[in-house]
Amino acid sequence: MGHDQRLYGCINMTDGKLSCDVVIIGAGPSGSMAAKTCAKHGLDTVLIEREKDFREGTKPVLLHRRIFDYIKIDDRFLDAKIRGIRIISPDRTEIEMHEPKNFELFFSLNRGRFNDELVKLAVSAGTQLMSGEEVVELIKEDGRVRGVKTKKDEIRSNLVIDARGIESKYRSFKEVDSCIEYLVEDVDLDREYIHYSIGDKFEFFYIVPKGDKFAITLFSSNPTEEQMNLFIKENLPEAEVIEKYSSQIPFGSNGTIKDGMMLVGDSAGCASPFSRFGVLCAIDSGILAGETIVEAYEENDFSSDLLSRYEKRWYKLHGARNDIEYDVRKFLEKNLSREDVNSLFHILKDEDGFFTDASFKKLVGSRRSKLRRTLFEKFKRYDCSIWDLFVR
Ligand SMILES: Cc1cc2nc3c(=O)[nH]c(=O)nc-3n(C[C@H](O)[C@H](O)[C@H](O)COP(=O)(O)OP(=O)(O)OC[C@H]3O[C@@H](n4cnc5c(N)ncnc54)[C@H](O)[C@@H]3O)c2cc1C
Repeated sequence: MGHDQRLYGCINMTDGKLSCDVVIIGAGPSGSMAAKTCAKHGLDTVLIEREKDFREGTKPVLLHRRIFDYIKIDDRFLDAKIRGIRIISPDRTEIEMHEPKNFELFFSLNRGRFNDELVKLAVSAGTQLMSGEEVVELIKEDGRVRGVKTKKDEIRSNLVIDARGIESKYRSFKEVDSCIEYLVEDVDLDREYIHYSIGDKFEFFYIVPKGDKFAITLFSSNPTEEQMNLFIKENLPEAEVIEKYSSQIPFGSNGTIKDGMMLVGDSAGCASPFSRFGVLCAIDSGILAGETIVEAYEENDFSSDLLSRYEKRWYKLHGARNDIEYDVRKFLEKNLSREDVNSLFHILKDEDGFFTDASFKKLVGSRRSKLRRTLFEKFKRYDCSIWDLFVR
């Protein structure tokens, strides 16, 4: 778009400086899809990724079947096809919900290979990928981000997307869940199901099949290996631990635009506070940010006003619902005791996991009715079943 000299790929030399239309920092799901969207519409798009190769590693990622709206998944990447969920309360009351036979709900994939496929989509749309390069500083002029510095280069652009995930210094989210993940083998569980166990203090244990193994993830504000080891000892005593990781996932967005830079995915807290399925939210936010940038170039308008279209679209698509989820989750954590969670499960179990009128009547009519009434109001506003909470 009107540059002095094409240097290489999408990078141009303008007034003696390297430049392009849009720089995206981080080639995770959000950055890759933002890059694909911009490049597909003819923008000179540069995607900078610190890692050289994503394909290494054994970590799994669980994706809702909606992923097929974005990418064709090759069977080679599939570790498991999931048909249902089992949710288990602290007193081990179990609610099972599932799709009919042969209808998959989720897919468990190798995370590295999946991410690599997303990067390929961006590159085949025309993105210039700079892998093995780290952005060390942002170029700011008049209070706006105008480009980036890597260890080797300085690249200028009208618009920058921050897709650095949890590590971004610009990150903008309300809270973060820490997690510990173990890859285990010798576990005798149904491979067509995900198991969610809720602990005494609203800590969550997710068990996801991965090929002939399982990944167990413990999410809470302060997870410890002792909690994880105890859970395994009590529930899966035969499990053999092969690998351990620890990580974090943010939730509750605190805004998606800062100093004229657009934040996408985890750096903007785009994940769902309940399910924590961040990848689809990250993909959607990347696409919306990319589409807004395309409009900015079409209209030759890079003002905050134009960029705020991204914020509004994000809010409409996922943000509003994520905010309510955040509110419901905070309420539950603060007000529900172990006994409350158990009795909630007993009531829901009678209604096959759905918040029906009958389950609400029981809920409100039972002890601690003020709390139940508030819960009722919140869920009514949220308008969902336990299935929606975990499977949306
Ligand atoms: C243990 C765990 C399990 C999870 N499981 C699931 C799951 O099963 N399903 C699901 O949907 N979600 C899951 N999530 C959430 C999901 O991983 C994230 O929401 C998603 O990856 C966010 O994508 P992103 O593109 O915003 O960020 P990331 O995927 O974090 O990508 C950020 C990228 O930026 C790069 N980067 C960082 N700093 C720089 C820099 N300075 N210069 C250049 N590059 C940089 C990083 O190398 C990285 O590639 C899980 C999260 C955790 C922690």
